[in-house]
Amino acid sequence: MFNKLKEHCGVFGIYNHPEAANLTYLGLYALQHRGQEGAGIVSSDGQQLHIHKNVGLVADVFKEEDLRNLYGNTAMGHVRYSTTGESSLKNVQPLVVDYAEGSVAIAHNGNLVNTQYIRQSLEEEGATFLTTLDTEVILNLVARSGAEDFLPALVLALNQVRGAYSLLIIRGDELIGVRDPKGFRPLCLGRLDGAYILASESCALDLLEAEFIRDIEPGEVVTINRQGVISQKPFIPQTEAFCVFEYIYFARPDSNFHGLNVTLVRKNLGRQLALENPVEADLVIPVPDSGRGAALGYSEESGIPFEEGLIRNHYVGRTFIEPRQTIRHFGVKIKLNAVKKLIEGKRVIVVDDSIVRGTTSRKIIKMLHRAGAEEVHMRVSSPPTKYPCFYGIDTPNRRELIAATHQLKEISRYLTTDSLGYLTVNGMLKAIHPFENNVCAACFTGKYPIKFPVKSCRQLEMFD
Ligand code: SF4
Repeated sequence: MFNKLKEHCGVFGIYNHPEAANLTYLGLYALQHRGQEGAGIVSSDGQQLHIHKNVGLVADVFKEEDLRNLYGNTAMGHVRYSTTGESSLKNVQPLVVDYAEGSVAIAHNGNLVNTQYIRQSLEEEGATFLTTLDTEVILNLVARSGAEDFLPALVLALNQVRGAYSLLIIRGDELIGVRDPKGFRPLCLGRLDGAYILASESCALDLLEAEFIRDIEPGEVVTINRQGVISQKPFIPQTEAFCVFEYIYFARPDSNFHGLNVTLVRKNLGRQLALENPVEADLVIPVPDSGRGAALGYSEESGIPFEEGLIRNHYVGRTFIEPRQTIRHFGVKIKLNAVKKLIEGKRVIVVDDSIVRGTTSRKIIKMLHRAGAEEVHMRVSSPPTKYPCFYGIDTPNRRELIAATHQLKEISRYLTTDSLGYLTVNGMLKAIHPFENNVCAACFTGKYPIKFPVKSCRQLEMFD
């Protein structure tokens, strides 16, 4: 849960609702877990676009007056965690650009793998960029496509980029949603009264009591306007590669993808983990919050009682300032505490969803030892994370991923566990049945569904 891979972004858009900006604000609130460094909303009154964005959490970025100034019945918003482009205000989305035909707003969840070269050649042709975002490259390609109408121009532009994108676009009062042909990142369609909604996750629809209609399909472009929802499939069909980490960790447990609920998938992962890595113990405890579903599944399958042996402080904001060495280094204890009376003298299985560098897991294990655990066995509801992600998830360089550089026994020794067990790749895929053949699992297998220029990817390097 800490020191984890980080989701890149979340998007939410609504067409034809008198409270469009307010509902977008709420939608972003539900998607806050997908990005905490910046947020923005663009609204359209049919003539003009109105925008407000800033760095910070949704609740800090928007005041009542800001929302009042976002006029119009169509709106969309974005929450951001920065990797592509630094985390400054100019890189907070949505981006708005002016064309001959009017203004266009765009928001992007994902990461493109070939924009470096496209950007370079566009700059050689005289293009200037205001941000370091991939999204601006798409806009430049749209402007230079030569196509007269916007949608064909967009398709021509997207045919040149490679990677992961779930896009929202407002043009006039139209709302457009696009999912890349491999469907790396999620996007779903919903309805509230007469209004249509596009959102990264279904939990945003639930908050508004909106009806879930369906997932937008990989390679699908939906245009929402007065005629309703118009669906097109303009790209060459490809095998789906939905990010399996959305199920394992990123998404909110109450969201659904492919009709599968994230909590239930996490429980399945935990069940499979128990089958593959049994151990005698007195308690199963989760690393909250993301390890909870898998720990429940492990407990149910193994028959070992589940307990909340670690308590998380939910009120630690990103702005928390740790006092300078005046007292001592508090580290993970600021966020987590072990329930001593539960743990003392017990053989404990602690379940987490993944291990990235291993530093936080080591602190948690030590905390359990200090709380008096007789044995601590760690179980991880995903396979060893050995490779970085290039499709919209922030991962450290490969050499920093503990499983890329160490064997199981070495990791276990470093963590100070009595035993350590990961889920196998096959076990993970089995647990998300029947969509196991349509996922990207590259950070576990190194089999990247879209090739990228290796030389440009410093993250892949094992050594400097
Ligand atoms: S590499 Fe990993 S994190 Fe990235 S899209 Fe694939 S499964 Fe998701």
